Amino acid sequence: MVAVAAPPRIEGEGTSESTWQHWLGATPCAELSMAQALAPSQRLVVVAPHPDDEVLACGALVALHAARGGEVVFVAVTDGEASHGGLCLQDRRGLALQRREERLRGLARLGIAHPQVHTLALPDGDVQAHGGLLWGWLLWFLRPRDVVVSTWEGDGHPDHDSTGRVTQGACLRMGCRFLAAPVWMWHWAVPADARVPWHRLRRLALDADACGRKQAALSAHVSQLTPRSASLGAVLGRSLLARAAWPHEYFFV
Ligand SMILES: [Zn+2]
Repeated sequence: MVAVAAPPRIEGEGTSESTWQHWLGATPCAELSMAQALAPSQRLVVVAPHPDDEVLACGALVALHAARGGEVVFVAVTDGEASHGGLCLQDRRGLALQRREERLRGLARLGIAHPQVHTLALPDGDVQAHGGLLWGWLLWFLRPRDVVVSTWEGDGHPDHDSTGRVTQGACLRMGCRFLAAPVWMWHWAVPADARVPWHRLRRLALDADACGRKQAALSAHVSQLTPRSASLGAVLGRSLLARAAWPHEYFFV
């Protein structure tokens, strides 16, 4: 009988940051340089399922490209209004507005004072049902020379998976280069996990400035970093924040 791998689950604190550091330090991973990732003249398009994913997935890549004068465009798939369960409609609207502002504040800290953000406002938690809209929009928007980053289609969060799958398909159709960033994968996976295509993983080395900008950008997402009430804790846990401070960003190619 063939063993079937368990589907990803995002719960608890996940695999510790030190466990990953130890394994990644001992396991060879092919490097991805900025020169290999994209040319300064190429447009970087970041397709983020929720506000903060543009930072968690590739905040330092964005900072590095912006620092050399490269164009960066953001596609905000949802406004992240469902990050906290059990909110009434009015509170969800308020949270969406707050998260839009946090996104802009974060992008400014990455070095993008006047960001180009295309807000699609698909329902948070239900991107899959609206994948056709995202698909059509991307086919209209993308150009063959673009380099596109989104979440990995196996990331384990429904919106991340749907956004990654649709974006990857649109890139294939349009001839764009696609880099898939793992975000929640680091939470549910374990070192050498059979559910992860490690042979496709590349790492981008970051300088101190890009690392610092990424940390500063993440700290703009106050709604995700602070408990909302006694029963609704912070969305971004300690392990995830520790991983966001790594001197590398990782992408599946
Ligand atoms: Zn997300």
